Amino acid sequence: MLTGDFSLERSQALFAEAQQLLPGGVNSPVRAFRGVGGDPVFIERAEGPYLYDVDGHRYLDYVQSWGPMILGHTYPSVVEAVVAASHKGFSYGAPTQAESQLARLVIEAVPSVEVIRFVNSGTEATMSALRLARAYTGRSKIVKFSGCYHGHADMLLVQAGSGVATMGLPDSPGVPSQTTLDTLTASYNDAAAVEQLFATYPNDIAAVIVEPIAANMGLVPPAPGFLEKLRELTQQHHALLIVDEVMTGFRVALGGMQERVGITPDLTCFGKIIGGGLPVGAYGGRREIMNMVAPAGPVYQAGTLSGNPLAMAAGIATLQELRKPGQYELLEQKGQRIEEGFQKALRDNHIQAQFVRVGAMFCLYFSEQPVNNYEDAKRSDTRRFASYFWSMLEQGIYLPPSKFESCFISLALDDAMLDETIRAAAKSFSTL
Ligand SMILES: *Cc1c(COP(=O)(O)O)cnc(C)c1O
Repeated sequence: MLTGDFSLERSQALFAEAQQLLPGGVNSPVRAFRGVGGDPVFIERAEGPYLYDVDGHRYLDYVQSWGPMILGHTYPSVVEAVVAASHKGFSYGAPTQAESQLARLVIEAVPSVEVIRFVNSGTEATMSALRLARAYTGRSKIVKFSGCYHGHADMLLVQAGSGVATMGLPDSPGVPSQTTLDTLTASYNDAAAVEQLFATYPNDIAAVIVEPIAANMGLVPPAPGFLEKLRELTQQHHALLIVDEVMTGFRVALGGMQERVGITPDLTCFGKIIGGGLPVGAYGGRREIMNMVAPAGPVYQAGTLSGNPLAMAAGIATLQELRKPGQYELLEQKGQRIEEGFQKALRDNHIQAQFVRVGAMFCLYFSEQPVNNYEDAKRSDTRRFASYFWSMLEQGIYLPPSKFESCFISLALDDAMLDETIRAAAKSFSTL
């Protein structure tokens, strides 16, 4: 796996210790590098485009804490805001103006959101949005797509049977089958399957929840018309459309993927970027629906640390940077540079692969066929991906350690760094 004198000795020692203390040595499964084999890299610190590991290596970071660090690490205005907030106390469990400031920044950027509730993670956001959708509609069934990840709440830990809409079977022990009985699944990009579900359960479906770009199975953009059709079907059947923009929100446009596609969902979930690297999630939408949330309404949802002052400060400072003119054009240019470089390197080395990109998100499937859904993504070559991953790591490029994850470009990556990444990719392709 590793060649030459690239040593991860200290990381390996720390991982051995962690494995005695934490399940699998980590606090979130993908971090353990099981998707690529071998032990994870332990991080010492980060700055701008770089991660520094405990063995003295420096990497260009394309994981960005799985999305939030769009400005790069330790961005000065964000650090200043968090330091200033920390001097005023970490948490009060009482309202602060910062919550309204961050709320206003999100609401101004995303017109479908009129009222928003902050929580502590994306998981909490989707879980709470579904509770609200069920309360609002008085129905219990939900529709999700196979390969879409919405956090680890019980009713969402369901995978679909290949392309066919099926009754949900839980993905994890500990999730009672009763909990997922009301979770219906369809294949991503298959609007006809959703139409069929509405035909079968005309008065039972509370909501359809969807990643507007499926980015937890690699990167699968919506087929033209797919999201629009979901909007139409949900409206027609008096169900809610919940767009999970935990990853795409403030990533592919200030207004998220809903802005790019031009749809207006009933509810939207956020996380990742809106916390600037601190733990934040949120759900928001139409006032009439959101006003059912306690204490305005009867739907209970609460959090000791929700709206935490440090997290709000990081989120406000991050969104203020992203609002400056030209940021998303810049991200698009960086994405284009990577795309052109990778495509050329693939051609030059006669590698059959699918390079997929939306703005500053990209993914490489070692697959001869285009990837349109989870089944296609699963078929891509895992071993080739692992070779590519380790080769890139040795060359100082830190990619997500799984073929089911998207890479992220930050504003801190300049053209020279992007070109360095392309050269590393070309070298890795030449050895595959
Ligand atoms: C990351 C993610 C989540 C879960 O967010 P956590 O903060 O990890 O709980 C939910 N939905 C999508 C689309 C995500 O990418």
